[in-house]
Amino acid sequence: MLFKQVVGQEDIKQRLVRMVKENRVSHSLLFTGPEGNGKLAMALAFAQYLNCLNPGDTDSCGVCSSCKKYAKLVHPDLHFVFPVIKSSSSSAPVSDTFITEWRTLVNQSPYFDLPTWLSQIRKEGDNKQGAIFTAESSEIIRKLSLKTFEGKYKMMIVWMPEKMNESTANKLLKILEEPSQSTVFILVSNKPDDMIGTILSRTQQLKIPALPQADIEAYLMDKFGISQQQAQGAAKVANGNLIYGQQQVEMSEENEFFFDRFITMMRHSYARKVSDLLKWVEEMSRHPRERQRNFLNYAINMIRENYIMNFKQDDIVYLTPKQLEWSKKFSPFINDKNAMTIAEDFSLADSHIGQNGNSKVILFDLGLKLIISIKEGN
Ligand SMILES: [Zn+2]
Repeated sequence: MLFKQVVGQEDIKQRLVRMVKENRVSHSLLFTGPEGNGKLAMALAFAQYLNCLNPGDTDSCGVCSSCKKYAKLVHPDLHFVFPVIKSSSSSAPVSDTFITEWRTLVNQSPYFDLPTWLSQIRKEGDNKQGAIFTAESSEIIRKLSLKTFEGKYKMMIVWMPEKMNESTANKLLKILEEPSQSTVFILVSNKPDDMIGTILSRTQQLKIPALPQADIEAYLMDKFGISQQQAQGAAKVANGNLIYGQQQVEMSEENEFFFDRFITMMRHSYARKVSDLLKWVEEMSRHPRERQRNFLNYAINMIRENYIMNFKQDDIVYLTPKQLEWSKKFSPFINDKNAMTIAEDFSLADSHIGQNGNSKVILFDLGLKLIISIKEGN
């Protein structure tokens, strides 16, 4: 990661560059500040700069052998520690167990939160909590005992050190108390107060502020190709948290997808086109189970909103302008005779899919029931 790939935070970048130039790099750094400010991205850019063979005035060269390996997160002197989960195959999981998944996610974008990371390594339906387990500390010691392969420094980036249990933290403390000249620890923490005070006092803290709205807005426009107006809305809600801003945009994109599928399903059912409905079912059943369930819950909400529209109570209808326009025509088809039945059928399908039933059978069955319900109501 280059500094120029890190969103905003120009002051912090300059401070870090100066630290390297003036040879004042602490061997244990702590990057903090509110979630979504780019701490992890900054740690990666800093680690790369520190090890770049030909660093410029403001950034790494990006082309030396060290930079190339850093860009792919495969430099042999770059190590990561992050929360992981216990699985059936390993009773003492360490970060390296999940390094492939970690590199994939960080390479996509280093702006993500803990739930997003855990969703990459958990099985569906699992809600195990992430932690940095005790086995990790012996792994850190082992890595530190290796000699530096090719870089200037061995880098140890610890993401979410607050997820360490006490015995791991105490072992880490011992390591930080006897710093090795060739190693730099960067702890990247949302909640440094959750860490033991003795670790905090061993580190040099760098507080990174929340991102200004304009930076988030520009980033969202560039990343998602959305209009300035859309980006502005999401950036405002994001309140300085880039990760949250991204989620706002993704959520509205997901809503567009659901809305499209909902309209198609209703059209086919109303027109009693069973073969088109079957095609719809086949396409929908190829999506991940979680997404199918999210769709069904979206649909239940749409049914409810459309039913309410019949009462002309506009103030209690929560729809986007586009959905509202479509619903004005559709809502009369959802009425006293069928609204409850349809909502119950969708809810039942959701719970059956949740119990690992065959999605294709469940969704097709739901479509057939819908054909009957729509007819009954009109
Ligand atoms: Zn370089």
